Amino acid sequence: MNIKDTIEFARSLDRSDPLRSFRSRFHIPKVNGKESVYLIGNSLGLQPKTTKKFINEELEDWAQLGGEGHEHSRRPWLYYHKLTKNALAKITGAKPSEVVAMNQLTVNLHLMMVSFYRPTQKRYKILTEAGAFSSDQYAFESQIKFHGLHPSKALIELKPRKGEYTLRTEDILDAIHEHRNELALVIFGGVQYYTGQFFDIKSITAAGHKAGALVGFDLAHAVGNVPVDLHKNNVDFAVWCSYKYLNAGPGAIAGAFVHERHASNTTLPRFAGWWGHHEGERFQMKKGFKPMPGADGWQLSNVPVFQSAALLASLELFNEAGIAALRKKSIQLTDLLEFLLWQIPTYGKDFVIITPANPAERGCQLSLLMKRDGKKLFNKLTQSGVIADWREPDVIRVAPVPLYNSFEDVVRMVEGFYSF
Ligand SMILES: *Cc1c(COP(=O)(O)O)cnc(C)c1O
Repeated sequence: MNIKDTIEFARSLDRSDPLRSFRSRFHIPKVNGKESVYLIGNSLGLQPKTTKKFINEELEDWAQLGGEGHEHSRRPWLYYHKLTKNALAKITGAKPSEVVAMNQLTVNLHLMMVSFYRPTQKRYKILTEAGAFSSDQYAFESQIKFHGLHPSKALIELKPRKGEYTLRTEDILDAIHEHRNELALVIFGGVQYYTGQFFDIKSITAAGHKAGALVGFDLAHAVGNVPVDLHKNNVDFAVWCSYKYLNAGPGAIAGAFVHERHASNTTLPRFAGWWGHHEGERFQMKKGFKPMPGADGWQLSNVPVFQSAALLASLELFNEAGIAALRKKSIQLTDLLEFLLWQIPTYGKDFVIITPANPAERGCQLSLLMKRDGKKLFNKLTQSGVIADWREPDVIRVAPVPLYNSFEDVVRMVEGFYSF
């Protein structure tokens, strides 16, 4: 590869990129005084330059209004969860009433499982991918124990075929069918955090339902990254965090989706709190929980306003850019990265890409399995200002994010391999 020509080519792609102006609306971290090549937006998204303004406005309103701010601030705090709904609905392919920003991801996963993992004597199993994110594994394990069951009996974890790195959809569907009489819940990541595989939400959901199970997704690595069409795909519930692709800052407020067919189902058990109680009567402080219809009815506590302000700042950018345009650029960026990595003479010998090659089966993340000197290369990249992500034991994850990464970033990353 001729680096100089390739960089020129990437720059020409950047010049004709309709989303190019969004980069300047983020703070790009510097390394050695130079803008870094930031490729870990799948881990912690960058800070929009407007985030400070949004949070400062809440600080000002609090300073000036104190408790009056609940009703009379510029974005009244009592109704803050409504402000993020429309954008979250667009991003997840949901109706606004089906989504809500609340809590943290793992908390939401537990809340959803309380309602949607209802094991019976016959149907008590959870089917999921092997090697799910640790927090999800702990949630599944502890939910199973909470019902007096044992994970070794109640948890089915699907592994890729021997010699393969990702699951075949047909194998997932076969497994669902095979266990059809004992499944209570099918739950997968939207995009697998380690391999970057984008699971087939539509087929998995349909197969789960056909088997008589409920189906949920953890969209931590999918939301703001790939189209998930939760409503149309008939998913029962989903959860996500907002500090990865949604750029709402470390520990940001998370989100949840509940399909509208469960919106008013008061027979579902749930862990309740006053913010899920019927809005008109919330402050009457009376006995007897009456849930709000829709996802709002799963809220527990009043809204964390500073976190929500940060989410709002970021969602504005998503609204402006549009999900379709983002996905289009994402595919182009990732395809270019993949193509350039394939050209490296040691490809296959020193490293391989384990993320599916089919753009429909991945988002913007590529996971490189390093067969030799992986950590050394990773450290070298870091020193040269390419910020990637090392996952034990031997994977480098890189994610060119369409909102703020450029085609030039992609070439700069690959350049690191040539100078190694
Ligand atoms: C990032 C991530 C988490 C983190 O959970 P928190 O509750 O936000 O700390 C959990 N699960 C998955 C799949 C993730 O990617």
